[in-house]
Amino acid sequence: MRRNSKRIKIRDISIGGNAPISVQSMTSTDTRDVKATIKQIKALEKAGCEIIRVAVPDMEAAKKLKEIRKSTKTPLVADIHYDYRLAIKAVDAGFDKIRINPGNISKPAKIKEIVDACKSRNIPIRVGVNMGSIAPKYLEKYGGPTPEGLVESALDHIKLLEALNFTNIVIAVKSSDVDMMIKANEIIADKIPYPLHLGVTEAGPPPEGIVKSAIGIGILLRKGIGDTIRVSLTADPVLEVKIGFEILKSLDIRKKGVNIISCPTCGRIEIDLLSIVEEVKERTKDIETPLNIAVMGCVVNGPGEARNADVGLAGGKGVGIIFKKGEIIKKVKENELVDALMEEIIKIVSEKNAKKTKNV
Ligand code: SF4
Repeated sequence: MRRNSKRIKIRDISIGGNAPISVQSMTSTDTRDVKATIKQIKALEKAGCEIIRVAVPDMEAAKKLKEIRKSTKTPLVADIHYDYRLAIKAVDAGFDKIRINPGNISKPAKIKEIVDACKSRNIPIRVGVNMGSIAPKYLEKYGGPTPEGLVESALDHIKLLEALNFTNIVIAVKSSDVDMMIKANEIIADKIPYPLHLGVTEAGPPPEGIVKSAIGIGILLRKGIGDTIRVSLTADPVLEVKIGFEILKSLDIRKKGVNIISCPTCGRIEIDLLSIVEEVKERTKDIETPLNIAVMGCVVNGPGEARNADVGLAGGKGVGIIFKKGEIIKKVKENELVDALMEEIIKIVSEKNAKKTKNV
């Protein structure tokens, strides 16, 4: 069962309180380069990214936020460290959420200025504590970075906001250590009512970073913990969005686009399955309708093994078959297999869309 959390609104997206688990990412461009940043925001939007974070390292970057804001309707988050003036600037520019750790702002009056600005536009603050930003007193208390230190650091930041009567909060406790990230989220989930943003920070390049993220985020989601996710990869952020949705799809939490079920191949294979899978993947990449497509190596076990697929193909010697829900519907020449499969896919997508329109 999903953890019960407070619902926080960020522009037209809700986080927590049973809202769909959203997928977010962060631009990797220099924010001062508005053109490059907007280009990346557009690419992220195209991939389905629902919340986009932008780093604001200095005042020069902060001054560009207004122009960046104008380019998109997607909720934007300003990622800020230490300098309260950058947060105020981001709020004024129309950004929809501020990520800042209030404990890192030296004067209480400055924290109040940020809080007042966020209150005036009713926008949330995300407190995000990473393994590298655990307060020194907790490093000392626990003899190094620990899940408990992560949690206690985050709770200190939260208390500062709550003392100012501010509860429009999202929390993240992240670590590059998967086990630490899981434990920290498990601990904090029972202590606060706020929604949780999940991620394995600095997870590294693919495929290692993908595996770490899928395990860390996946285990927590399976336990009902987590309200929004960000996969952090040393790669194009568009890939982070794709992996984020794949994690949600694998757990049957959100259905979006096609799910390809393909066999690992074995000694029975008589076709070039790898090329066929790549072609099917490419030709279905823009389909948004949830659809299970099986691409199996042989007719011996293929259709039966992929009984739950909406549609599929199975290769053979010279000929192959097209099947629906495990039942064979037609036999075609091997070189016509993908075209025949695509014909069925288009039919099913139109049927599903027509049904959806009827039910609206
Ligand atoms: S579907 Fe056929 S080719 Fe693929 S792994 Fe199973 S038996 Fe082997």
